[in-house]
Amino acid sequence: MHSDPFHLWQQGVVLLTTRPNDRSRENRLKLALDESDIAFQTEVCAYIDANLDKKVSEKVRLGYGASKAEVDEWTRTLNAKGWAAPHWPVEVGGAEWSAVRRHVFENELRAAHAPELQGFGFSMVGPAIIKYGSQAQKAQYLPKILNAEMSWCQGYSEPQAGSDLASLRTTAVSSGDNYVVNGSKIWTSAAEIADHIFVLVKTDTHVKSQLGISFLLIDMATPGITVEPLLAFNGVRLWNQVFFDNVVVPKPNRLGEENKGWTVAKNLLGNERLQVSRVAENRRLLNNLIDISRAEQQRGIDLDPSFWQKLAALEIRLDALDATALRLLSKFDSGGGIGPEVSMLKLKGSQLVQAMDSLMFDVIGLYGLPLDSPMRADGTGPIGTDYADMVASRMYHHRGYTIAGGSSEVQHNIIAQAVLGL
Ligand SMILES: Cc1cc2nc3c(=O)[nH]c(=O)nc-3n(C[C@H](O)[C@H](O)[C@H](O)COP(=O)(O)OP(=O)(O)OC[C@H]3O[C@@H](n4cnc5c(N)ncnc54)[C@H](O)[C@@H]3O)c2cc1C
Repeated sequence: MHSDPFHLWQQGVVLLTTRPNDRSRENRLKLALDESDIAFQTEVCAYIDANLDKKVSEKVRLGYGASKAEVDEWTRTLNAKGWAAPHWPVEVGGAEWSAVRRHVFENELRAAHAPELQGFGFSMVGPAIIKYGSQAQKAQYLPKILNAEMSWCQGYSEPQAGSDLASLRTTAVSSGDNYVVNGSKIWTSAAEIADHIFVLVKTDTHVKSQLGISFLLIDMATPGITVEPLLAFNGVRLWNQVFFDNVVVPKPNRLGEENKGWTVAKNLLGNERLQVSRVAENRRLLNNLIDISRAEQQRGIDLDPSFWQKLAALEIRLDALDATALRLLSKFDSGGGIGPEVSMLKLKGSQLVQAMDSLMFDVIGLYGLPLDSPMRADGTGPIGTDYADMVASRMYHHRGYTIAGGSSEVQHNIIAQAVLGL
């Protein structure tokens, strides 16, 4: 009888669905996949194997992330196949797959360590333009998002408006055919590489806050916009503050009706929360964790028995999240819309990423102490194994997951009030 935890794991003593040698193919979604879905899964795997640059996937596997140029290249590769936007309707260039197919696709992409496409375009402003945009706006923006010719950032938060977003103060004053925008947005991720920003502005300051908000699509090259860097505590430029000083924006750049921008904003936040269930990302992290534990064991490191229990507990949490995400996606597909219950996915998905990080940090031990970037900048490289180099940095980066897109406390409030009716 083997007492090696990996052996027990492989015997299914601890394991529910994902096995070290048998990652994503047969075991996952056993209940949900029919024969045609499995054929689809095989096609997706073959396409990824044939088209994803191995150097890029190795960077992603080790946690370094892909550059904008590499993400753009991968976006164009997927778009050439018609797979860049699985959730968009076919008439605007999407694949319009069912929830199950999207789930399979996303899981296979993450399992292969493919770079993530730009969420601000594909999952946030893209669907908002599809739902609220004029024909001219759809024609102007959607093909460019699909082909990585336009990249976006999100101008919602302000220095005095985060959780209480409707108290934002950036104004857009009507002036003939234009608005003149003044104010500032903060925590704007990717503003340094984006060429467009979607922004919430006040177009009427005399009514209750939610009623006077409009939604603008702005070219970052417009005179009067400046971008200042903000560093995260792993030393990386994660955010920016964006200043608007008499920025002239043509009125046709407004998405939806004037003063009805709050409806667009809420819909977009719902899409954002659906995206941030992070099931596939968590599955990838779990698989990394299993690989790293195995490598550490092979190096002679004896992992505490409680480690295996923690690992099993994480997998159980992930499977529960997976089932809930699939349930909500299916409801959305059958026309049910995105309700406040999507906050559960955001809450649980972001907490789970942090729990995975924490266990990964425990496994790599002392190699987690130095932060990666200074080590690499002076050419000395990682001091430990290659997989340990980015663990600390990623862990600090992921701390923001329970704040971005609405903090956990705010998600708890939404679930209590709007889902449970408390
Ligand atoms: C990694 C990251 C990326 C981000 N990217 C972007 C971006 O690209 N674009 C953008 O616009 N914004 C972005 N943000 C900002 C993010 O949306 C805000 O940080 C978030 O909405 C919280 O707002 P705040 O920071 O002002 O905190 P506050 O709203 O001031 O909250 C402070 C604390 O009070 C708690 N709190 C607030 N209200 C309540 C309440 N009613 N009940 C209970 N507790 C409450 C919060 O949970 C938090 O703990 C990003 C943030 C992070 C961390």
